[in-house]
Amino acid sequence: MVSELFFYQLVLIALLWLCCMLHWVWPSDGGVTSPTPSQPTPPLRRRSRAPKPFVGLTAKPPCDACEDTSASHPHAPSAPPPRIVMTRGRRRQVDTSHHFCPNPDCAYRGWVGWGNLRANGHPNGGPWRQLLCIVCRHYFLETLGTIFHGKRASVDLIVRVIACLAEGLGIRGTARVFEVDPNTVLQWLVEAAQQLQAFSQHVLHNIRVHQVQLDELFALLSAVKEGAVSEVEAIERLERAPQWVWAAMDPESKLLLTIDVGNRTLAMAQRVVHQVVQVLAPGCMPLFLTDGFKEYATALLTHFGQWVQPLRRQDKGPAPKPRWMPQPQLLYAQVVKTVRRRRLVDVQHRVVFGTIEAVNQVLSPLGWQINTAFVERLNLSLRQHVAAIGRRVTTLCKDQDGLRQQLSLYQVYYNFVLPHVSVRQPLPQPEPTNGTGSAKQWRLCTPAMVAGLTDHVWGLREVLLYRVPPWPQPAGV
Ligand SMILES: [Zn+2]
Repeated sequence: MVSELFFYQLVLIALLWLCCMLHWVWPSDGGVTSPTPSQPTPPLRRRSRAPKPFVGLTAKPPCDACEDTSASHPHAPSAPPPRIVMTRGRRRQVDTSHHFCPNPDCAYRGWVGWGNLRANGHPNGGPWRQLLCIVCRHYFLETLGTIFHGKRASVDLIVRVIACLAEGLGIRGTARVFEVDPNTVLQWLVEAAQQLQAFSQHVLHNIRVHQVQLDELFALLSAVKEGAVSEVEAIERLERAPQWVWAAMDPESKLLLTIDVGNRTLAMAQRVVHQVVQVLAPGCMPLFLTDGFKEYATALLTHFGQWVQPLRRQDKGPAPKPRWMPQPQLLYAQVVKTVRRRRLVDVQHRVVFGTIEAVNQVLSPLGWQINTAFVERLNLSLRQHVAAIGRRVTTLCKDQDGLRQQLSLYQVYYNFVLPHVSVRQPLPQPEPTNGTGSAKQWRLCTPAMVAGLTDHVWGLREVLLYRVPPWPQPAGV
């Protein structure tokens, strides 16, 4: 009797020990070894640490965004009309060079600064100027197409409300601060986001970068820290609810190339990489750095791949089928982190496409190693500036669209408005300040300035007043 009890206890202990060992030995976060989708599963996982050469795919992986050509950048309908240069009369006082005629029947429609516009004073003593196109005799207000058009609320109020949202105060909080109806704030956010999305699309193109860091971050991390939800629970919840925020940035200029919301899936990885390709200059192939999420490799392969005819191995038999392979210049490395019991226990660097020498050639001039630190740092900044991700989830913007609108606002605010400390530039000579403070040593810079997209720090009001032309303008305008 006693020995039986003892035996059962022994079995129990042995089982417990086995469970512990399994938990310890089993990797909690498996990375990828190869981007091929049809891989045999677990037993192979630990077989070899040396990366196998990528053998290519037999079909080009599909990308929804590539197939949907209507979403691509709009093109100018035809060659621009001749510029109008006035030689007679007094010099024009009002600068209209940032405006364009909106009349769809006018030959000068959409061409910015083509000399066809004249200022026509303030109708009814209103705050905004009226402009006249001298070609089609069409009158329009200088706010046409912006959030201020047709609004009774004061410009200052709208700008401050949007600034508050951009700084991370939620919709309800902003509404309370300015004593505005929350639905009005939401309406303004929706309009501003639409305009700023167009602004980003207009300004961010033809960009040349050496590196791109990609990351996907989830929106419930703060809840995890407080112990309200376990990490597994949070991830499970997020797998169902598409609350992953995807971001791509150039770590050198800190420019935020794209930001989006969606599931953690191949389709979404495809979409994000597609958006990055839209922003980059043709032929620009930067070094891509990501975490261990395996679908990035396929997404990069889709957009930076080519067909390669493999060499024959035998004299007889049919020729081998062509393979979809990465272009030889494509460089892609992963930072694979192993997290065990919520603690980071291991970081591995893995070059997926290209060679480690080529990757280091890009990184070593900056004194860097393979890392995704900059896009991860963005994570924190996002939490501070986007209320829907940060502290309160009970904002009016709970759904995916609402989050996307706040992210469009954040992208422009971050790239153009907010000076970034790490990209500030030293002044050739310190400038004395007006007060008693120490002399100014630095010139404040935004990521857009470092990337060469603009020459000054934009104000939010300036961004919101920018009338986005319907197509990219010729260079030098
Ligand atoms: Zn016109």
